[in-house]
Amino acid sequence: MTSNKICFIGAGNMSRSIISGLVNSGYQPELIEATNPSTPKLDALKADFAINTSSDNAAAAQRADVIILSVKPQLMQQVCEALATLDLSNKLIITIAAGIPATRYQDYFGQPIKLIRVMPNTPMQLGAGMSGLYAPDNISAEQKAIAEAIIKTGGDTVWVDDEDGLNLVIALAGSSPAYFFLFVEGMIEAGISMGMERDKARKLAQQAAFGAARMLIENPQLTAAQLRQNVTSKGGTTHEAVETFKQGDLHGLTAKAMANCIARAEEMA
Ligand code: NAD
Repeated sequence: MTSNKICFIGAGNMSRSIISGLVNSGYQPELIEATNPSTPKLDALKADFAINTSSDNAAAAQRADVIILSVKPQLMQQVCEALATLDLSNKLIITIAAGIPATRYQDYFGQPIKLIRVMPNTPMQLGAGMSGLYAPDNISAEQKAIAEAIIKTGGDTVWVDDEDGLNLVIALAGSSPAYFFLFVEGMIEAGISMGMERDKARKLAQQAAFGAARMLIENPQLTAAQLRQNVTSKGGTTHEAVETFKQGDLHGLTAKAMANCIARAEEMA
């Protein structure tokens, strides 16, 4: 990967996940800096990854080639405005904040900027993340490659051609780990109510989820529907369960949940 100096503004959960991916994939820790107003998170990052830390956003951003904005969306304006006096013309800015459109950052910084939006998800902390990226027209292929290489250390990536596509990324990948947790949660509770011990119910359900995910990923020539049909013989046990889900319109409910997720993302913008 490149030898760009990377600065994370905000040293919370997502920054930790990305930093972990970078360091574990061999990125030099001395090229990474993270900032935060309070020291405990910085001390932990320094101890775990030997990166540089600072409580001075502007000084750290000044030193960096790539600035990754990783504070909560409601703090973003204030944080960016405090960096507006810096010359950002040679810096690539990456934001992982949900909701805020790319053009608004231009207003916050009060100068032309090169900014890429990334929508990650939490499995990034295990290197199993899925992120959507969006780059406005003023971003070069080289800058896109830099952002993609950084984010890929935490998992897989897709580029979306228009910014609205990022809200669909939230519905399909950003928020969706929670959908799977909810489903597995339901399986575990049902298993327990039918007589299985909790730890065994959890082991059975989570390993089934892991195995199903691997089958999807490792058989790209088969659709999810084909994989399901392959294990569903008419009149059998799986068929009985699948028909019950269909009667409850699981697909309709899934589409409604995703539409509500997108509507919420649009409201937050
Ligand atoms: P977090 O609260 O764990 O981290 C934010 C950090 O910013 C905190 O450590 C906080 O102390 C620090 N901070 C506050 N004010 C600051 C300032 N003025 N300067 C520097 N740092 C400051 O939040 P997170 O979950 O890591 O989320 C960070 C961003 O990632 C958010 O914008 C969120 O929308 C986005 N995001 C999160 C997820 C997720 O699943 N957690 C998924 C996609 C996108």
